Amino acid sequence: MENKANTLFLSFESEEVTFFADLILPIPVPKLFTYRVPRGMAEVLKIGARVIVPFGKKNGRVLTAIVAKLHNTPPTGYQARYINEILDEYPLTTSYQLELFKWISEYYMCCIGEVMNVALPSGLKISSQSKVQFNPDFDYPELLTDFEATLLTELKKHPALSYEELERLMGEGSNVAALIKSLVGKKAIIVFEEVREKYIPKMVRKVRLHRTYEEREQLLVLLQRLEKLPKQQEVVMRYLSHVPMQRTPSLNQKGLDKTILNQDDELSQSSLSTLIKNQVFETFEVIQPRFADTDAGTPQAEIKLTDAQRAASVQIMSQFDSQNIVLLHGITGSGKTEVYIDLIQQALSGGSQVLYLLPEIALTTQIVVRLQRVFGDKMGIYHSKFSDNERVEVWKGVVSEQYQFVVGVRSAVFLPFDNLGLIIVDEEHETSYKQHDPAPRYHARDVAIMLAHWQQAKVLLGSATPSLETYYQAKQGRYGLVELFQRFGDATLPNIVLVNVQQEKKQKTMKQEFSSALLGALEANMERKEQSILFQNRRGYSPYMQCEDCDWTAECTNCAVSLTYHQRDAELRCHYCGHKESVPRVCPTCGSTKVKTIGFGTEKLEDQLQIFFPQSRVLRMDLDTTRAKNAYQQIIQEFEGGQVDILVGTQMITKGLDFDNVSLVGIFDADRLIHFPDFRATERAFQMITQVSGRAGRRAGRQGTVLIQTSNPQQPVLQKVIENNYKGLYEEELQERQNFNYPPFCRLIKLTVRHTDRAISQQAASRLATELTDALGSSRVLGPEEPLVERIRNQFLYDILIKIERDKVNIKAVKTFIQDRINDILTDKGLRQVSIVTDVDCL
Ligand code: ADP
Ligand code: ZN
Ligand code: ZN
Repeated sequence: MENKANTLFLSFESEEVTFFADLILPIPVPKLFTYRVPRGMAEVLKIGARVIVPFGKKNGRVLTAIVAKLHNTPPTGYQARYINEILDEYPLTTSYQLELFKWISEYYMCCIGEVMNVALPSGLKISSQSKVQFNPDFDYPELLTDFEATLLTELKKHPALSYEELERLMGEGSNVAALIKSLVGKKAIIVFEEVREKYIPKMVRKVRLHRTYEEREQLLVLLQRLEKLPKQQEVVMRYLSHVPMQRTPSLNQKGLDKTILNQDDELSQSSLSTLIKNQVFETFEVIQPRFADTDAGTPQAEIKLTDAQRAASVQIMSQFDSQNIVLLHGITGSGKTEVYIDLIQQALSGGSQVLYLLPEIALTTQIVVRLQRVFGDKMGIYHSKFSDNERVEVWKGVVSEQYQFVVGVRSAVFLPFDNLGLIIVDEEHETSYKQHDPAPRYHARDVAIMLAHWQQAKVLLGSATPSLETYYQAKQGRYGLVELFQRFGDATLPNIVLVNVQQEKKQKTMKQEFSSALLGALEANMERKEQSILFQNRRGYSPYMQCEDCDWTAECTNCAVSLTYHQRDAELRCHYCGHKESVPRVCPTCGSTKVKTIGFGTEKLEDQLQIFFPQSRVLRMDLDTTRAKNAYQQIIQEFEGGQVDILVGTQMITKGLDFDNVSLVGIFDADRLIHFPDFRATERAFQMITQVSGRAGRRAGRQGTVLIQTSNPQQPVLQKVIENNYKGLYEEELQERQNFNYPPFCRLIKLTVRHTDRAISQQAASRLATELTDALGSSRVLGPEEPLVERIRNQFLYDILIKIERDKVNIKAVKTFIQDRINDILTDKGLRQVSIVTDVDCL
């Protein structure tokens, strides 16, 4: 090692070349930064590797950067600083990723550093902001240098230490970066950012036979010896029945949960203790995987596709001959997942990588367990709810080829794939694929399509209710289209019934928010011991609190919205900024005691159900009940366990859930979904209602029922829902979109101007709109307009909507022009404090 470094040093000294590196820094600055490569580093430094560099005026401030380019031209205008440290000898980012970062920054009009910042888990971005903790899984102390060991001992005494604290500990002039690098390499420490939760693995106690007994003869000897000790022998036999190591000795290493071995009887417990004491068994601890581990080591392959699924799979493969993108339009419960699994297996056996994207809320234990049964531990899981450390492990697992297949959420498109054969985007219509904040405001489906394009991979988009944009592409012949209109098993789609709430109100048969029809159906369902799901897309108890005497309503002090009453915590909350207030006893304006709530959310429904059905068990699933770490999984598990009669929830319950015993779905306030002031409201309402309806009757033998409460059953979109007429909805909506020139007939870019002073915000917005209109024409520029909620967090908002044709326009030039206009405004002295958010392909 030493020798090699010396020769390198010499060879560079004789050539006298100075190397420079252009680096991507994870900050919102629209350019690359040039740094000097120290001698000796040039040989090992590669494009795509991470380096640590000093940044900013303050001494000692460091950031992690990615090498984008190596050259020998010094920068003009500034003195290049030296790179401190190389973090990767083998780059952790691929050339595809660098290309992707660049594409995203151009297409979505943001800085490449912002892309990097979102793409890399913070464990890969060591900076002065970083914290480190001892890795509780570390058990190779013999790998440490004395110095590292001392430091680690120090680290164990603290929950975590910051970069600066480490510097102080190590003394003047120390190289903290190098130390972190080495300790991370040995898996002795974990790097994270304070904002993220600390990684606390859950440990499981396991037992296994002592290594000696992995040899067949030794095991036989042991069993013979235990003949005289039947209790102990029984424990060993029980172990062997769970861990068939006679056939596969290596299985022993994985061991068995201790709780399985000493089940309930005390005798086996004491026998086991004796066996451990006598070193027949040894105990050890492992980390409990995030998702219930279903014997991940033994994949039980072979899924049997139904004829319809087989046909769909074959059609998809044959369409891939001529198309890069295929849409699988398959109704709810048709078993799209099964088709995906089949295609994934084919792609993997062809030697390429596979990415399977799911909306965050749909990536549940249910689906993971199904996939693990087939793919075992070859599959990586990438979830934003995971700790940073776990995400880093998946990232590295892709580089090291441990994971050829990853199932993940939106941000999984940033993983370092370099040989993708197939990308699946399930529930492609889901709006949560679009990132809202911070930049890059990317759409994972569209990024996936670009990613696939570069790697010559195929893309399969799947949905029961495709987005209009995607279906249009398929109809135009730009994407393939395969249909799967048969539910798995002999299950049928549920029977959908509209309940006229106006009429029931007249007849006085409504009980609070419940129609008599729905109450009757719920009751009958409970008698049959079947489960029900109720959908109301609004959380909290009620969205308004108002004084009957003076019309005062509770409003947020920071935002232009009413506060939502949350009964459980007895407070009023703003759903935009999180502001909280206690509930006033009397009206703050007139002192009246007649302060009442108006409208209803999931909490109120839960409350009313307890009154109507005091014996029933009701669970609620919304943002408020799922904040705690595993709450979401727990609710699903409890409901699946069957002890729960009714699940009430927001749109969280519309996605991907697959319960056997649900035969009734009730939908509240359908009119509010339909009349939301947005050109996509009809499409959204259809998608949401169809998806939540699809949770009913997923098993053969009994058709499910869906009751939709509405004031106007004649509304066309509801008729389309009843008929399950996606195509009809598509035709009508498309016509509307064409008439008013909305996507898919144009592209949308939304600019939102924000400032704490309304006048300044408005001034900036109208200047921007005028300049854009002058150049692009008034048909392409709408606004400025106050959005529905015109003030959030004390910032006054103005929206400008830009419509650009899909063809015959140089969209790149238009974007550059828009960016220039924005920059002009932001550099204007009077408007400098204004912020302008750019949202390309806004939803
Ligand atoms: P979708 O995503 O199209 O709504 P799923 O993939 O969730 O449907 O499948 C619905 C249910 O049917 C799941 O419980 C799944 O396990 C089951 N299923 C579908 N196809 C098969 C098959 N070929 N063999 C066994 N079970 C299947
Ligand atoms: Zn009042
Ligand atoms: Zn607010």
